Amino acid sequence: MSGEPAMSGDGARAELTIDLGALADNWRKLAETAVGAECAAVVKADAYGVGAEPAVRALARAGCRTFFVAHTSEGARARAALGAGEGFRIFVLNGGALDAAAPSAYAEHGLRPVLGSLAEIEAWGARGGGSAAALHIDTGMNRLGISSGDIDRALALAATGGFRFELAMSHFVSSEEPADPLNDRQIDAFRKALEKLPGVAASLANSSGVFLPQKPFFDLVRPGYALYGGNPLPGQPNPMRPVVRLVAPIIQLRDIAPGATVGYNGQWTAKRPTRLATIGVGYADGFPRNLMATESRAGGEAMVLSQRCRFAGRVSMDLIVIDVTDVRDTALALGTPVELLSENIGVDDVGARAGTIGYEVLTSLGRRYRRRYIGGV
Ligand SMILES: *Cc1c(COP(=O)(O)O)cnc(C)c1O
Repeated sequence: MSGEPAMSGDGARAELTIDLGALADNWRKLAETAVGAECAAVVKADAYGVGAEPAVRALARAGCRTFFVAHTSEGARARAALGAGEGFRIFVLNGGALDAAAPSAYAEHGLRPVLGSLAEIEAWGARGGGSAAALHIDTGMNRLGISSGDIDRALALAATGGFRFELAMSHFVSSEEPADPLNDRQIDAFRKALEKLPGVAASLANSSGVFLPQKPFFDLVRPGYALYGGNPLPGQPNPMRPVVRLVAPIIQLRDIAPGATVGYNGQWTAKRPTRLATIGVGYADGFPRNLMATESRAGGEAMVLSQRCRFAGRVSMDLIVIDVTDVRDTALALGTPVELLSENIGVDDVGARAGTIGYEVLTSLGRRYRRRYIGGV
C-alpha cells in the first residue's frame, strides 16, 4: 500500500507519509481512556484524508470492531477493506433520508443506517427493516436527529417496521471546550432520553468527548480527529501521536536584496538581504492559501534543517516561498527537505495559522503528493 514510485523528473513532488502504527496507537490510547466502553472509529471523508482502506485495515488489526462513515459509498469502501465475515459493524451517519430509496446498498455491503428523523425510521421500516439501525437523538446540535419528545413515536415506528435500534447516539456541540455548560446539559438530556430506551447501547463522545472530565463514555465512543493525530484538547499538550508527515524538497534557492518583493501582488517585502527557498506545494494541494505571509499577517511556518522558518508572500497554486535566511547550516541546498507537517508542526498549528481548524487541513490533504504508508504490519 505504499505510494506509486516517483517518475523521473518528478522529484519536485512532496511526500506525504502516513504512520499507520501511530494511528493504531492513537486508537489504543482512546480505547484505554474510555474505560468500560467500546472504542469505535470514525473513518468518514477518506479517513479524514489519510486514506480509508489502509486506515480501516490498521484500525481493525488494532482491535476496532465498529466504524462510522458519512455516506453509503464510504461504507462500501470500508466493507471492502474489512471483508464480510468477521463481525465488523459499519454505521452510516447520513444514512437515512435519501438512501432509503436505494436499500440494496445496505444489504449488499452489510451497512447499518443511523436514522435521524421519524420519516427516515418509517421509510427504513417500510422497506423491510433489514439490519438493525442506530437512532440519532438531537440534544442541541440541531443538525440531524429526532428530538427526545419523539422517542416513543420512533419506537412505535420501528416496531411496526419490524426492526430494532441497537444503538442510540447523540453528538456534542462543544466538547473541545470542557468549560462550556452545554456539555453537561447535553449529557443530562441524553441520559433522560435513554430512560426510554432500556437495553439499547448508547454513544455520545467524539474525540474531545473522550477527554471530558464528566467521562461521558456510555457504551461506545466515536472518535475521529484524535485518531489521525489531531489534538482533542485545544490549548493543552496533544496526547495523540502525529499520523501525517508532509515534506517537500527545495526546488529553487535565491538571494534577494532589501526592498524586493515576493510572490503575487508583491505582498511581502524583504527587509534585509534574504535567502528564499521555493517548494512545490500550493493551495491546489489543499495547503491553505490563508497561510500567506504579508505585511499584516505572520502566515505559515516550515522546518528547514531544524530551523523554524516563515513563509514569504502569497501561497500560489503549486508553490510556496519560504524565508530561509536564518538557516546557517551549510547543508542547505536544492533538494533539502522542508517539513510542512510533522511532530514539530501539527495539523492544529497549521489550522490555527490559516484561520481554520486542523480537521479541514487533514481532510483537504492533496491528491498530488507521493503517499507513503509506514507502520502497517
Ligand atoms: C465526525 C463525527 C464524529 C467524530 O468527531 P471527531 O471530533 O472527529 O472525533 C463523531 N460523531 C459524529 C456524529 C460525527 O459526525
